[in-house]
Amino acid sequence: MSFFSIPHGVYRTHDKDSDTGFTPETMIDMLFNYKAFLNTNDNESGSIASKGPNTVKRIAIIGSGAAGLVAAYELSKIDNIEVTIYEAGDRLGGRMDSIVIPDGSLNNKIFEMGCMRFPPTSHTLYHYLDKFNLKPVPNFPDPGVVETKLLYENQVINWPAGESTPDNADFKRIGNDFSNMLTCVLGSASQPNIVNPNKLFDFWAIYQAEPTAKTKQNVVNAWQLIINQYSTTTYFEAVYKLAQNTSIVTTPWTQEDMNKFGALGVGSGGFGPLYNVNFVEILRLFANGWEDNQELLLTGIISLVDAFCEAIADKVSIRLNCKVTQIDEFDNNQYSMSINADGGARCTEQYDSIIVATTTRAMEYMGLTIDGIKNSKGVLQGPPAILSKEPKEAIRNLHLMNSSKYFVTTTSKFWYAVNNNTGENLPFNMQTDELMRGLYCLNYDADLANGKPNTEGKGVVLISYVWGDDSTKLLALSEEERFQQFIIAIKAINPTFALLLEQQAEKTQLIDWENTSNFYGAFKLNYPGQEQDNHSAFFQYQAQKQGVFLAGDSVSWAGGWLEGAMPTGVNAACAAAARVGATIAENSPLTDIAATMYKYDNPPANETYSRTQEADSPVKQTNTHKKDKILEV
Ligand SMILES: Cc1cc2nc3c(=O)[nH]c(=O)nc-3n(C[C@H](O)[C@H](O)[C@H](O)COP(=O)(O)OP(=O)(O)OC[C@H]3O[C@@H](n4cnc5c(N)ncnc54)[C@H](O)[C@@H]3O)c2cc1C
Repeated sequence: MSFFSIPHGVYRTHDKDSDTGFTPETMIDMLFNYKAFLNTNDNESGSIASKGPNTVKRIAIIGSGAAGLVAAYELSKIDNIEVTIYEAGDRLGGRMDSIVIPDGSLNNKIFEMGCMRFPPTSHTLYHYLDKFNLKPVPNFPDPGVVETKLLYENQVINWPAGESTPDNADFKRIGNDFSNMLTCVLGSASQPNIVNPNKLFDFWAIYQAEPTAKTKQNVVNAWQLIINQYSTTTYFEAVYKLAQNTSIVTTPWTQEDMNKFGALGVGSGGFGPLYNVNFVEILRLFANGWEDNQELLLTGIISLVDAFCEAIADKVSIRLNCKVTQIDEFDNNQYSMSINADGGARCTEQYDSIIVATTTRAMEYMGLTIDGIKNSKGVLQGPPAILSKEPKEAIRNLHLMNSSKYFVTTTSKFWYAVNNNTGENLPFNMQTDELMRGLYCLNYDADLANGKPNTEGKGVVLISYVWGDDSTKLLALSEEERFQQFIIAIKAINPTFALLLEQQAEKTQLIDWENTSNFYGAFKLNYPGQEQDNHSAFFQYQAQKQGVFLAGDSVSWAGGWLEGAMPTGVNAACAAAARVGATIAENSPLTDIAATMYKYDNPPANETYSRTQEADSPVKQTNTHKKDKILEV
């Protein structure tokens, strides 16, 4: 259930039986089935390599976030490979960052400072959750999933639980229009047209049902058209243009409509601060299904970090408080790393291969974009550059988004009627155009799967979750100043809620990711024109001439999602293992994701897109519109 009924009930439940629409098993930019690859090769007896190197080889992993842990776990199962993780911070997990607050005999309460809601289309993530027997529960309290109130231009608008749009004619119109835009660009995943395929979802559904080279090429062609059309366009520009087309929208959108849409956003919150992001990045969200049916882990994402740690404990060395400051190449393609350990001790270590699994900004601070020192004639004096030109450019260019969160525990879950004296439930979610933007009431005792919340124990309220400029606005405010600002908006929405929150607030915690050491940003979201950088960064792992491999959500096709980070950990593990002499299992990301599949650079301006592909659908074709264009928007 998303803010604007995306697109016409698209997707998607984890429960295949009740799912009538199309749910992608791969991500559009890779079309590689990580789950299948891992299921085949990541069982108790198997690993991503069918054979380890002949002699012992050493691989270092810089960063213990999702990508680093996945890489460590996969490498730890290969014979003759010794793995060491270097982590600059004092804990493992990176942006998998749960602060755990005990609550007597009840479940611990969790502040998820980083990732917190997980769409079941995160197939790699769910592979590991399943493996470690961790079961997320459905119905993360997103807007419209639970009782929600909107505060827009000082007007409170109701949004009943289970309704796809807020209770307001304008917002309903905007919501339906946006659904139409997405359907127009991507097609309908809930009802892909496999008889007369014309849009991405139609071709993708056909390919998934019957994977052949030809059906795959049709998907590639459809996404390529979208890349060509939108890779240099902002989200704002694209939506505004689409919103002037009366064959898509009810009436052309005004600036005020854009403001409404930006303030209240799509599914998971206000998307206005993302207006400058490349439209292709936003389309990925919907193509890959990340905005749908999000789930939460009652034990916190920390439980996944713990599970990885337990699994690798005997096999992998872990060095906390060890910041890598430089990587150099020396004789025989060996690498040396300079490390600043806690307390100021410095040392150098040597490795056969290195995986750098940090944000791109952390990579920049590690010196990965700097060439060796040149003399006055331009001749390299120091060691050669570790990376080639394109990934270096990508590291410098790729845009990281800001994000801030502010959590509070409360002595009770006062939003439930039984815990307040109003006789009714208070809002569980608030969205506003004011500073706090998004508020979420979280119940870590809830048996949400059965719809029977346990109303006892402490509450957790994420009183503000913001991105981009909204996060920058808050940077200079102290914790107390922020609280007071947020309370003003909350009071305007529901004075009782504000009063109880003030009375019951216990522990608080905030984070500004752009201002946090070793991260320097929340997540990658490309600006227009950065698709090619994304390509260079992502496919760097296939550069076997080098022994240093990049990983993490910053170099992925899904910045801001674990499902971005984790596959890059698999890629880098395959690359590093191959580099040191292991034989990688068949059909791996080394061989089965082609860097040439899409062209992300120099999109032809205003190209007219004739449909050249002929779909070989499993269903008999009755296509009478062979000359139709895709994406006539
Ligand atoms: C606010 C926020 C909300 C999010 N919400 C969601 C969500 O709801 N669902 C979802 O799926 N995803 C979400 N994400 C995204 C998800 O958290 C990330 O994609 C993922 O955790 C990133 O993992 P990573 O391995 O790329 O890097 P990181 O988690 O950044 O790990 C990198 C590690 O490298 C370490 N490091 C950095 N520099 C050095 C150095 N020089 N030497 C040694 N170590 C170093 C860092 O300390 C860090 O531990 C969210 C992220 C944020 C910030």
